[in-house]
Amino acid sequence: MQALITNIQRFSLNDGPGIRTTVFFQGCNMHCTWCHNPETISMKPVLMHYSNKCIGCGTCFRLSDPPNAVRLEGGRHVIDRKILKNAEDLAENCTASALVMSSKPYTVEEVMAEVRQDKLYYDLSDGGVTVSGGEASLHSAFIEELADACHAEGIRIACETNMALPYHRIEPMLKKMDLIMCDLKHVDSPTHKKYTGVDNQIIFNNIGRSSLLGIPMIVRTPLIPGATNDITNLKGVAEFVSKLRNIKYYELLNYNPLGSSKRMAMDAEDPFGDCRPYSNKDLEEIRKQLQDAGVELKIS
Ligand code: SF4
Repeated sequence: MQALITNIQRFSLNDGPGIRTTVFFQGCNMHCTWCHNPETISMKPVLMHYSNKCIGCGTCFRLSDPPNAVRLEGGRHVIDRKILKNAEDLAENCTASALVMSSKPYTVEEVMAEVRQDKLYYDLSDGGVTVSGGEASLHSAFIEELADACHAEGIRIACETNMALPYHRIEPMLKKMDLIMCDLKHVDSPTHKKYTGVDNQIIFNNIGRSSLLGIPMIVRTPLIPGATNDITNLKGVAEFVSKLRNIKYYELLNYNPLGSSKRMAMDAEDPFGDCRPYSNKDLEEIRKQLQDAGVELKIS
């Protein structure tokens, strides 16, 4: 079995407890406007162009099929991804690695070869493997196999999931996890749909059902200026989380601006490009306002 993976990030400190290896899968069923991994949203690998690495050799213009799908306009590369037929060829032939495909297929054993290198660090730090994305649960059969392989070697595994697929599709994967991390971005349905493309009712239902599995859970909200950060929303999520079982804590994730350079490499719009992470002072103010929410709060 194979799955498309965009990145296997070792020594990750932000995707669960301890030192972790995070496996990012290609493809997502939500389309969050602020996504900091926008290259993972498409179900297929995306051709990325990092202009800062380009040495102007012209190979991509010569090899482009059809010939005008990659061209120079006003001194910059224009890539017409809708008509380009040989994106993988171009990435292979770009010796400067300015053109790269966002993902490639891996087998479970190939992932394990990366993952097991850091077992000692997982053991010393209470860490392990995290499957993320994109949306990990779109690859649930692969992840179930990966979880079995991890457990056979004494490695814990956690998932980051948007909980936006029908419950029967995610439950088998969730049951194999040692920790479930899931997002609830907005309590208001129209606002949630506006920013993510998906109604939040399925997410409320799935989080509620998952909390009965007896597996530790962390519910998270990314702090997106002007979208999720209003205190009424955060209080609403905190109140919902406070009623769930098996919750370790409610986590607020500071705005992550890393998606901007990736959006540029994909020639994609960047509606939150001017946003910056919150200062420690701002985060402390948010913490104060949520101190009576009835749930342990962590801000990352
Ligand atoms: S092949 Fe790579 S380095 Fe050469 S012009 Fe194209 S993007 Fe730039």
